[in-house]
Amino acid sequence: MQPVSNELVYPGGMEVIFHYRCPHCTTTVRVPPTDKSITITCPHCHGRFPIAPVDDATVKFVQVITLNGTAAVQQNYL
Ligand SMILES: [Zn+2]
Repeated sequence: MQPVSNELVYPGGMEVIFHYRCPHCTTTVRVPPTDKSITITCPHCHGRFPIAPVDDATVKFVQVITLNGTAAVQQNYL
Protein backbone atom coordinates (compact mmCIF):
# COMPACT_ATOMS: atom_id res chain seq x y z
CA MET A 1 0.00 0.00 0.00
CA GLN A 2 1.37 3.36 -1.04
CA PRO A 3 1.87 6.04 1.61
CA VAL A 4 -0.53 8.99 1.48
CA SER A 5 0.39 12.49 2.57
CA ASN A 6 -2.21 15.13 3.38
CA GLU A 7 0.39 17.88 3.38
CA LEU A 8 -0.04 20.27 0.44
CA VAL A 9 2.91 20.20 -1.95
CA TYR A 10 3.98 23.46 -3.61
CA PRO A 11 5.72 23.88 -6.95
CA GLY A 12 9.45 23.35 -6.68
CA GLY A 13 10.11 24.68 -10.15
CA MET A 14 8.49 25.55 -13.43
CA GLU A 15 9.16 25.20 -17.13
CA VAL A 16 8.44 27.59 -19.95
CA ILE A 17 7.16 26.16 -23.22
CA PHE A 18 7.25 28.12 -26.48
CA HIS A 19 4.71 27.72 -29.26
CA TYR A 20 5.89 27.58 -32.87
CA ARG A 21 3.43 27.40 -35.76
CA CYS A 22 4.35 24.67 -38.22
CA PRO A 23 4.76 26.28 -41.68
CA HIS A 24 3.55 23.07 -43.33
CA CYS A 25 0.26 22.37 -41.52
CA THR A 26 -0.11 25.43 -39.19
CA THR A 27 -0.36 23.23 -36.11
CA THR A 28 1.07 24.83 -32.97
CA VAL A 29 4.10 22.87 -31.80
CA ARG A 30 5.13 23.21 -28.15
CA VAL A 31 8.89 23.33 -27.69
CA PRO A 32 11.00 23.76 -24.54
CA PRO A 33 13.33 26.77 -24.67
CA THR A 34 16.43 26.33 -26.78
CA ASP A 35 19.22 28.85 -27.15
CA LYS A 36 20.38 27.30 -30.43
CA SER A 37 18.73 27.44 -33.82
CA ILE A 38 17.59 23.88 -34.34
CA THR A 39 15.37 22.14 -36.85
CA ILE A 40 12.35 20.43 -35.34
CA THR A 41 9.91 17.87 -36.64
CA CYS A 42 6.22 18.64 -36.42
CA PRO A 43 4.53 15.80 -34.50
CA HIS A 44 1.35 16.31 -36.54
CA CYS A 45 2.57 16.31 -40.19
CA HIS A 46 6.21 15.26 -39.62
CA GLY A 47 7.39 18.28 -41.64
CA ARG A 48 10.68 19.78 -40.51
CA PHE A 49 11.45 23.46 -39.96
CA PRO A 50 14.07 25.60 -38.22
CA ILE A 51 13.03 27.60 -35.16
CA ALA A 52 14.35 30.87 -33.80
CA PRO A 53 16.29 30.39 -30.55
CA VAL A 54 15.20 32.15 -27.36
CA ASP A 55 17.25 34.04 -24.82
CA ASP A 56 17.96 31.87 -21.79
CA ALA A 57 18.11 34.98 -19.56
CA THR A 58 14.48 35.74 -20.44
CA VAL A 59 13.39 32.24 -19.45
CA LYS A 60 15.34 32.51 -16.20
CA PHE A 61 13.73 35.92 -15.55
CA VAL A 62 10.23 34.41 -15.82
CA GLN A 63 11.24 31.65 -13.40
CA VAL A 64 12.70 34.18 -10.94
CA ILE A 65 9.72 36.58 -10.97
CA THR A 66 7.36 33.68 -10.25
CA LEU A 67 9.65 32.27 -7.52
CA ASN A 68 9.93 29.08 -9.60
CA GLY A 69 6.16 28.77 -9.77
CA THR A 70 5.37 29.46 -6.12
CA ALA A 71 4.06 32.95 -6.92
CA ALA A 72 1.49 31.37 -9.25
CA VAL A 73 -0.15 29.39 -6.44
CA GLN A 74 -3.68 30.61 -5.70
CA GLN A 75 -3.75 33.04 -2.80
CA ASN A 76 -6.03 30.92 -0.60
CA TYR A 77 -3.56 28.03 -0.82
CA LEU A 78 -0.61 30.03 0.50
ZN1 LIG B 1 3.05 20.34 -39.25
